[in-house]
Amino acid sequence: MNPTIQKISEQVDSLRHEMVAFLAHLVQHSSLPGKEQAAQHFYAEKLKALGCAPEILTSNREELEAHPAFCDDLVPFDNRLNVVGRWTATGNKSGKRDAPRTLILNGHMDVVPTGREDLWSASPWSGEVKEGKLYGRGSCDMKAGLTANVFAVQALQALGFRPSADVLLESVIGEESGGVGTLTTIVKGFKADAAIITEPTCLHACPVQSGALTFRIKVPGRAIHACMKPQGVSAIEKFYLVQQAIQELDRRRHVQYKNHLYEDAHNIAPISIGTIHGGDWPSTVPDEVIVEGRLGVLPGEKMDDARRAMSAAVARAVAVDPFLKGHPPKIEWFEGQFESGQTPVTEPIVTSVQQCHAEVLGRATVLQGVTYGSDLRLFTNHGQVPAILYGPGNIAQAHTVDEWVDLREVFSAAKVLAYIITQWCGGEFV
Ligand SMILES: [Zn+2]
Repeated sequence: MNPTIQKISEQVDSLRHEMVAFLAHLVQHSSLPGKEQAAQHFYAEKLKALGCAPEILTSNREELEAHPAFCDDLVPFDNRLNVVGRWTATGNKSGKRDAPRTLILNGHMDVVPTGREDLWSASPWSGEVKEGKLYGRGSCDMKAGLTANVFAVQALQALGFRPSADVLLESVIGEESGGVGTLTTIVKGFKADAAIITEPTCLHACPVQSGALTFRIKVPGRAIHACMKPQGVSAIEKFYLVQQAIQELDRRRHVQYKNHLYEDAHNIAPISIGTIHGGDWPSTVPDEVIVEGRLGVLPGEKMDDARRAMSAAVARAVAVDPFLKGHPPKIEWFEGQFESGQTPVTEPIVTSVQQCHAEVLGRATVLQGVTYGSDLRLFTNHGQVPAILYGPGNIAQAHTVDEWVDLREVFSAAKVLAYIITQWCGGEFV
């Protein structure tokens, strides 16, 4: 084995207990949206101990709201804290084959609500370890990633490594609700030659993400007593026409779009209706149906183009129905409006993650796109920073009851990340 990998691997293994304890502590801080402060201070203390001079960045509405990627997540802008630490380059910068490159390791501290706590086998904030898994809300999504980021640095420091370019450690808030935290770091000017976001990808290398737009459609009808139905118009029946048009749009978009990074060609940026409300009385013909849902944005597609595709699909339903022609449904776009994002697979950070993964773990990683939104789009579209998702844990565990993460993956992630730092940033062991 390559001697650098050998010593990184042994060093991370010797830190296992400390890593598990740190991850458990992070989970025990119930960092729900707007309540991340204690967890962020805990994280900042750790960065301070590593000599990474953490800065606390407050997210302010005034600074963000004019930004095109700003999404108001309705969490009060009150003490919303992000942490950025910097492991400053002190290594040799000359005589290297590649110029030293700076690197951001990014993760989010916010977690989604627990749902009914009585469904959990133990407290969602236990951080309990059983058979190699650590349990609790946020364990997988994504305090495991935040832990791997920090311990990659700690392991290298213990080995006397000095990077030739800065490594930034970012712990942000607001990712689950639209990315206010990472946007704050971008607006405040934090940049690097690449960013790795250690979201739970099962250590797959994911440089592409779909986007998502939240919509509401109001379909009209005309109310009348059910016994007079032919003289009214059922909004539920009219909605059915609209729904068919949307389903057809979803099918067609996936037939026309090709992206080999997605495993399932029919599920890249799906359209899903999440709520439906219509009618108010069993024997009244309903006069309105209101549905809300999510329209996926294909990687590379502009948000306006996706919105236009939806409007055109609804217009097709309208065109074949005399009542709808005179009473067209209204489409509203509200809350989350998230772009897709992508880093070309030829970018050095993508190949570097793949190579380092293969060298450290002895097997190739999977290169793939993800169907969910993440902060990747903020780096690629607004920070001009090539970014990739790569981290421990399985997205299938995220947001679940009894969420857990496999600790072996957390250790593996720390090893690969440490090795990436040595290769990407350059540096020397002294
Ligand atoms: Zn996440």
